Amino acid sequence: MSNWKTSLIQAYRLCTTPYRQFRWFNMARKGQVPAIVLFYHRVADDHPNDWTMSRKDFKNQIDWLQNNFDIVSLEECQHRIIGSGNHRPTLSITFDDGYAENCEYALPMLVERRIPATYFVTTDHTFKQQPFPHDVKAGCPLPANTIESLLALDRAGIEIGAHTRTHPDLGSITDERVLVDEVVAASIELEAVLKRRVRYFAFPYGQTANLNAKVFGMLREMGFLGVCSAYGGWNEVGGDPFHLQRMHGDPNIERMKNWLTYDPRIQSVERYIPRDELFDRELLQETVRATDERSKLSRMTLPFPATDPIPQSPNALQ
Ligand SMILES: [Zn+2]
Repeated sequence: MSNWKTSLIQAYRLCTTPYRQFRWFNMARKGQVPAIVLFYHRVADDHPNDWTMSRKDFKNQIDWLQNNFDIVSLEECQHRIIGSGNHRPTLSITFDDGYAENCEYALPMLVERRIPATYFVTTDHTFKQQPFPHDVKAGCPLPANTIESLLALDRAGIEIGAHTRTHPDLGSITDERVLVDEVVAASIELEAVLKRRVRYFAFPYGQTANLNAKVFGMLREMGFLGVCSAYGGWNEVGGDPFHLQRMHGDPNIERMKNWLTYDPRIQSVERYIPRDELFDRELLQETVRATDERSKLSRMTLPFPATDPIPQSPNALQ
């Protein structure tokens, strides 16, 4: 982004500061402070692209976020949304896809600072070390997390979430067998590797058109705690805690500060409401049985991750 655009955003934020402060004061007084969830993809200094943030930018962002928000787990975000009122600036950090370089700088830094995070992985990408088609198309197949690195993240207190098997656009899939395989079977296979239950799911691409009501139904049936979209917006107190709307962890810190300090324009983000969550229950149960059998584990006996996980053991990542 050009310097003059960045300056313009900064000027807009400063000009609207009195309104933002008034809005903030009212929300805090009424216990109506919304929960914000950010999503990142890849933090690295090599191969910059639209889904990569430099280490320096990431550190600057986390420094600013730590000074301005309670950075909490997704579970704590949900508690604050459904509780008797939220008076604190609340934010949660997530990553999508499973890029290997995140384990070199970004995640160790979060663990070191004891900042909770949820890490959504696509199983073919990580289990088979298969690059994403969009990276291949860009001529730069970027490395994926290994199973060992996921286990290390899990041990360090980073919550691992599901992000399908092959990263398809779930909004365009009508065949329930494909949906069940991408969402249900892939999540159970991830659970079998982690030897614990997976509690959160993030839709690939995450725009309204990429969401699918049946998937909401399937995830509720499986006992997931929540599902994340990525079309923007924050999460109002008293709103649906199962569906967490996420905002882009914008590499341009001025633009991010603008969004996160309650930009008046953010009110216009319309929440996706899943309609017709009905799906083929038998197909889902049959898939759970078959996947359990393949992995020689019963998901019902697997433990859940710690409630409200906070990273505790930086050494686990080494
Ligand atoms: Zn993704």
